[in-house]
Amino acid sequence: MTIKDRILNIKKEDYFKKSNLHIHTNFSDGEADFDAQIEKAHELGLLNISITDHNTVEGYRHSKYKDDEILIKGIEFDCIQDLCYIHILGYGIDIENEQLNKLCSKRNVKCDTGLKRLLNLRNAKKVIEAIHNAGGIAVLAHPCCYWALSLEILTKRLISYGLDGMEVYYPYDGFRGVIKFHSRKIPRKIAEKYNLIQTGGLDNHKELYY
Ligand SMILES: [Zn+2]
Ligand SMILES: [Zn+2]
Repeated sequence: MTIKDRILNIKKEDYFKKSNLHIHTNFSDGEADFDAQIEKAHELGLLNISITDHNTVEGYRHSKYKDDEILIKGIEFDCIQDLCYIHILGYGIDIENEQLNKLCSKRNVKCDTGLKRLLNLRNAKKVIEAIHNAGGIAVLAHPCCYWALSLEILTKRLISYGLDGMEVYYPYDGFRGVIKFHSRKIPRKIAEKYNLIQTGGLDNHKELYY
């Protein structure tokens, strides 16, 4: 099954109890151990998870779970597009892909503060191309959080670069105090209009829980 089909097979109601495609670990700014997140996901009976640390796939290299059946290999890149700071998720990537690795942080990502990350933004077009080159699909993360006058115009630009999907199942309410610039209904409407793959995740930075 292709990564696109696997994600399309996840039912809307499976987010987040059975599927969570946005999880961080202490390989970036999360608190939990990479392998402990996978073990916890099994314990909770999750069927699909993706660990999407910021700008790195190092966690996958160090993990003892190389090809876990519930795990979709992922990453979350810091990007800039039209003066807007955005996050693009890559799913189903080959972590050894050269083009993708060139865009990963060279330093120890754990030490990257918010400011350091802001000073090291990637070109969104290059990120989408690299994710495709690595066999993955590119998904716009938590779209309500972007300071774009029009989320639709931003999305259309990203689609012209090959964007495949949009994260529409996301806990916007009360999540980490992140400011929301767009109503939560808008991403789903845009995703439907442009036929984007609709994904979802909790963006956990702590240990998984339910
Ligand atoms: Zn993010
Ligand atoms: Zn995230």
